[in-house]
Amino acid sequence: MDSKVVGILGGGQLGRMMVEAASRLNIKTVILENGADSPAKQINSSTEHIDGSFNDEAAIRKLAEKCNVLTVEIEHVDVEALKKVQEQTSVKIYPSPETIALIKDKYLQKEHLIRNQIAVAESTAVESTSGALQSVGQKYGYPYMLKSRTMAYDGRGNFVVEDDSKIPEALEALKDRPLYAEKWAPFTKELAVMVVRGLGGDVHAYPTVETIHKNNICHTVFAPARVNDTIQKRAQLLAEKAVSAFSGAGIFGVEMFLLPNDELLINEIAPRPHNSGHYTIDACVTSQFEAHIRAVCSLPLPKNFTSLSTPSTHAIMLNVLGSSNPEEWLQKCKRALETPHASVYLYGKSNRPGRKLGHINIVSQSMDDCIRRLEYIDGQSDTLKE
Ligand code: ADP
Ligand code: MG
Repeated sequence: MDSKVVGILGGGQLGRMMVEAASRLNIKTVILENGADSPAKQINSSTEHIDGSFNDEAAIRKLAEKCNVLTVEIEHVDVEALKKVQEQTSVKIYPSPETIALIKDKYLQKEHLIRNQIAVAESTAVESTSGALQSVGQKYGYPYMLKSRTMAYDGRGNFVVEDDSKIPEALEALKDRPLYAEKWAPFTKELAVMVVRGLGGDVHAYPTVETIHKNNICHTVFAPARVNDTIQKRAQLLAEKAVSAFSGAGIFGVEMFLLPNDELLINEIAPRPHNSGHYTIDACVTSQFEAHIRAVCSLPLPKNFTSLSTPSTHAIMLNVLGSSNPEEWLQKCKRALETPHASVYLYGKSNRPGRKLGHINIVSQSMDDCIRRLEYIDGQSDTLKE
């Protein structure tokens, strides 16, 4: 297993947790990221890391020279450079550069899903003019969602157009970005499914989970989702079908909306480990990070390796977000350490309000028990119950 070296574009927390999973399999990892102190480099003492940007062709080539396989912890990378490396060297790249290109532009992603008969919110590309935004309002009604096609994360890149008086503000907020508009999805819950895709195109869904966002940032994840078994299964099948529409191997995070009539729509797909899959580290047979490393290194993906550890396993993941008063998040972590069945993961990042600094996994035999433990740890969880 130690014959392969995996290069990771991006050295944040997702890279850090990939490094951990790879090192347990004796698989060497090399990180491409600006600076020497990124979360992934901190826990990997190799001197081989590359100091540079995952959008710089020369830096990507340098990384490729040291590796057999390249993968990403972020989709906002230079795809053209990856395509060249793929054509000109024997280095394998997973997910494939074609997949990253289709996914990193959210509107191309939507069009690709529609071509593959996968249900998504109705959307349309728009010019950055108030006339164009007004016609969208006439077509979709208000509110609708205006989104940046590229470089969007944690809600940065989205604007809710409540009515036509908000159009100037929307244009100001998203100016100079390529835009598309999406019909409002009046969801009752947001669900997510991690899917790992093997080199042969086989797809394996993790359990369906429920994600709760606050201020556009993932706050908590409930695994499995508090929906009936049929919806859970339908969400897994939809996620598998969606991931089957892309080429290459690796883990994918599939975000969905559950509508009032129980219809499911795909919101977006990430071609990498995902925040909604952090619970898998403690609650599943194999974590999303190990599943990814196995997939990109052509290692076995046996039957049921994405299942919950036991049929009665329940889990909650709570993100640890930075706060203006650092005591706040530190106290949360301290309370988690005091709580049996809770594990704390910190990413080695400095505190900034709203920044993802770590997460806490709580695993138990019932969701009620997980919620009780969460209430102690989070200290303000009145909105968390159904
Ligand atoms: P990000 O890249 O920031 O995760 P998303 O497109 O997933 O961007 O949007 C962030 C959040 O905004 C979603 O999780 C959901 O809560 C809300 N949202 C996104 N699209 C819609 C939509 N069409 N209708 C209603 N809410 C939406
Ligand atoms: Mg999202």
